[in-house]
Amino acid sequence: MHRILFVVLSFVLILTFSCGNTSTAIDRPNVILIIIDTLRADHLNCYGYHRDTSPSLDSLAASGTRWENCQAQAPWTLPATATIFTGLNAKQHGTGRRLDGDHRLHSEIPIIPTIFSNAGYRTCGIFNVVLLNENHGFARGFDYYSCDDLGARRAAISVDEFLRWLESGSDERPFLAVLHFFDVHDPYDPPPPFDKLYFPDDTLDVSMWEITESGQIAHPEHLEHFLSRYDGGITWVDTQLGRLFSELRFRGYGDNTIIMVTADHGEEFLEWGWVGHGGHLYQELVHVPLIVSGPGIPSGEVITEPAAQFDILPTLLSICSIEDTSYFEGVDLFNRAARDPRPLPASRLMFWGQMLGETPLAAVVYGRMKGLVTRKGSTDSYYMFDLLNDPHEQAPLEADSTLMELLDYYRATPMLWDPPRVQDLDSSSTRALEDLGYI
Ligand SMILES: [Zn+2]
Repeated sequence: MHRILFVVLSFVLILTFSCGNTSTAIDRPNVILIIIDTLRADHLNCYGYHRDTSPSLDSLAASGTRWENCQAQAPWTLPATATIFTGLNAKQHGTGRRLDGDHRLHSEIPIIPTIFSNAGYRTCGIFNVVLLNENHGFARGFDYYSCDDLGARRAAISVDEFLRWLESGSDERPFLAVLHFFDVHDPYDPPPPFDKLYFPDDTLDVSMWEITESGQIAHPEHLEHFLSRYDGGITWVDTQLGRLFSELRFRGYGDNTIIMVTADHGEEFLEWGWVGHGGHLYQELVHVPLIVSGPGIPSGEVITEPAAQFDILPTLLSICSIEDTSYFEGVDLFNRAARDPRPLPASRLMFWGQMLGETPLAAVVYGRMKGLVTRKGSTDSYYMFDLLNDPHEQAPLEADSTLMELLDYYRATPMLWDPPRVQDLDSSSTRALEDLGYI
C-alpha cells in the first residue's frame, strides 16, 4: 500500500515538476527591442513617407503588427527612454531635467532588463549616447552592457557587437537585447552613399544647423540638405537592421525571437520655426513608430487606435507570459479592451529650450483628439487638435472640458519615484552633452 502511494506521489511530483518546467524561461521567446533615436514615424515608408527610406522595417511591419499612432511621452531622450524602460509616464518616473540638473532612473524602479533578468532571461544592452549610460541608471539589470557616450558608434558596429554577444552565450536561457541606435540623431552624417542618397547633387557639406548668437536658424534654406541627410541616416540604419534580421534567420533565431522597433522621439525641421527636438510637444516630436514581429504576433496587421511608449513594457511581458506585479501606466496592446480610448500624455521634463513664444507644458492624446496646454508669462492656454482631420496641428480648436480636465489631471500626477540627480558627470560626458546640444 505504502509502495503504491509512493509511486503515485512520485508520479504526481514528476508531473508537477514537468508542468512547472513548461512555464519556465526556457520556453519563452527571445526579445530584441530596437530603439532608433530621433526617428519620427512619418519618415518611414510604411508610415506613408514618400521616400523609400525603410525597406527592412517595412517588411518587418508586413510580417507583424504595426501601430499607426504611437505617442512618445516626452520629446527628448532621457525621459522618453525612461518611459520605455518603466512603463510609466514621464511625471510618474520623474527621470529628466529639473532646475538642479538631470535626474537619473531611480535605482530601485523596476525596468525592462531587471524584470526580464528576474524572469530568467540573459540580457544585453547596447546604447549610444551619454544620456543612457550607467551614470543615468540604464545599465542596471543587463548581464552585458555597453554605451558609447559620444554617440559616434555606427549602427554596423553595434549590430556586430550584439551578434558577437549572441554567439558568446552557451546556456539555454532566452535572451533580451535592447539595441539603441544613434545614427539618425544629429549630426546628420550618414556614411556614403547614404549621405547623398536622396540628394545626389548636394554640394553642401555641413551636418549641424547653424544657430546665430541671437538664437536664430542661420540658414533655413538648408532644409532640403538636412532632410535628405536625415532620411539617408534612416536608410543607413535600416540597411543594418536588414543585415541583423538576415543574420538572426541564418543563425536559427528566426522562429523564436520577438523583434520590436520604436523610437524615443522624433525630430522637427522648421515646421514650427525650429529644428531638433526637446522644445515642444507637436506630433513631429511625439509621433513615433511601433512595430512588433515574431512568433504568435498577428501578421500584416495595422492598428489605428492610439498607443503609447508606456505600453511597450507591459506588452512585451504579455507576449513572453511574464507575470510581474510592478505598476505600469501602460497596457498590453494586444488586449483590445485595454486599448479603448485612454489619455496618452506627454511633457518635456526640462527647463531649457523655450524657443517658442509659448512654453508647452503638457499634451494629452485622447482618441482622435489631442489637447495641449502652453504658458506665456503667467497665463496658461488650452488648445485642441483633431489629429484625424488635422494631423499637422495647423487648426487649433478651443479645448473642450474633457481635454482640459485630462491635461490638468496629468499635470497634477504625483511622482511615484523621486530619482536622484545625476552625480559627478566627468568632463568627457559633459563635453558629449554639449556637443549634442543637450547643455
Ligand atoms: Zn533621443
